[in-house]
Amino acid sequence: MEKVIILRYAEIHLKGKNRGYFERALSNNLEKSLKGLRHELHRLSGRWLIAAFDESKAEEICERIKKVFGVHSYSVGLLTDSSERSLFEAVLAVAPEEGTFKVETHRADKKYPLTSPEVSARLGGRLLNVRPRLKVDVHTPDSIVYVDIRENSSALVFCKFERGAGGMPVTTSGKGLLLISGGIDSPVAAHMMAKRGLSVQLLHFHSYPYTNEGAKEKVVKLAKILSPYTQTDRLTTVKVTHIQEEIHKKCAAELNVTLLRRFMFRIAERVALLNGAKCLVTGESLGQVASQTLEGITSSNSVVKLPVLRPLIGFDKEEIIDRAKAIGTYETSILPYEDCCTVFLPEFPATRPKISFIEEEEAKLDVEALVEEALNSAETVLL
Ligand code: ATP
Ligand code: MG
Repeated sequence: MEKVIILRYAEIHLKGKNRGYFERALSNNLEKSLKGLRHELHRLSGRWLIAAFDESKAEEICERIKKVFGVHSYSVGLLTDSSERSLFEAVLAVAPEEGTFKVETHRADKKYPLTSPEVSARLGGRLLNVRPRLKVDVHTPDSIVYVDIRENSSALVFCKFERGAGGMPVTTSGKGLLLISGGIDSPVAAHMMAKRGLSVQLLHFHSYPYTNEGAKEKVVKLAKILSPYTQTDRLTTVKVTHIQEEIHKKCAAELNVTLLRRFMFRIAERVALLNGAKCLVTGESLGQVASQTLEGITSSNSVVKLPVLRPLIGFDKEEIIDRAKAIGTYETSILPYEDCCTVFLPEFPATRPKISFIEEEEAKLDVEALVEEALNSAETVLL
């Protein structure tokens, strides 16, 4: 009898040719997430089995697979041979001490000498004999003991379904570049897009020396918290200090943020194309701040060709905070470091800037040279 973990994925993604692709991505991701922990990963039909691990590490394995998108649910159970004696031993090990229960048997091995209802009845009967505080209820039991008899004379016995991260395996939707700020929102946006199978790369803008090393370390820390979900292995940082100084010196103050954001998007598009990313992702939410109005969004979108995904667009701050807490990024996000967006922040930023005004002000700058200069400052941090 061996402790194992049974993983299930949602069949909905498994149409035709996609199946192999989906399963390979999921197994790659599971292997990555279990790196450093002894284990074997076996494929069963529509499921995976993690076996041969150090039983004292079962909890750690579960913590890790909870962060792997594409896993719909999982169960910690027992792998045993399919003799009735072994099945009963396993049932005893997983079944509760009290309450109502039923045994539910599934039989892939159609040559097994007993039918599924017979197996359930016999195991359930024996269980009742030794656990007097248990009662059978076949309609709404508190617990179900699942017995899954497999073809090779083995069986899986388990009692609980735990919810997995859901979604689709990271990489199956391609690659995107997230603009990550160190605030609460952008890490949540990363998590949401990874859930839809997007492999998320990270780009952070800083304006050293106005922003300090602490701000950058904070973003590295956030990236590390995210990486079990997103499988991100690097963070690109780009310095926009000179761009901000030029805007501050030459352009209308109320457009500071609007213009900076256009630079950010231009630079992000270049970084994305260099790295094979096919979309940009931001943590913007409609109306949250002056730059996140329809006019602000239009202004930023109009300088890039890549699609910009904004998964938080319809979320309230409170909803975003709840998610950040669940992901584990919140406590880091609220550490007080200055973001480059708040450097030179005008007292009254424009909320509905006209495109013609933006373009007029921007014409005072050598946009291409500033973008090039910023790109030359790019650094990569391996996580
Ligand atoms: P966040 O909590 O993600 O910082 P926010 O509510 O503070 O968001 P803004 O500062 O306006 O909003 O930023 C909007 C989006 O622009 C962020 O979600 C992020 O995607 C991007 N962004 C802002 N600042 C930076 C930065 N320094 N580097 C990279 N991206 C940034
Ligand atoms: Mg911010």
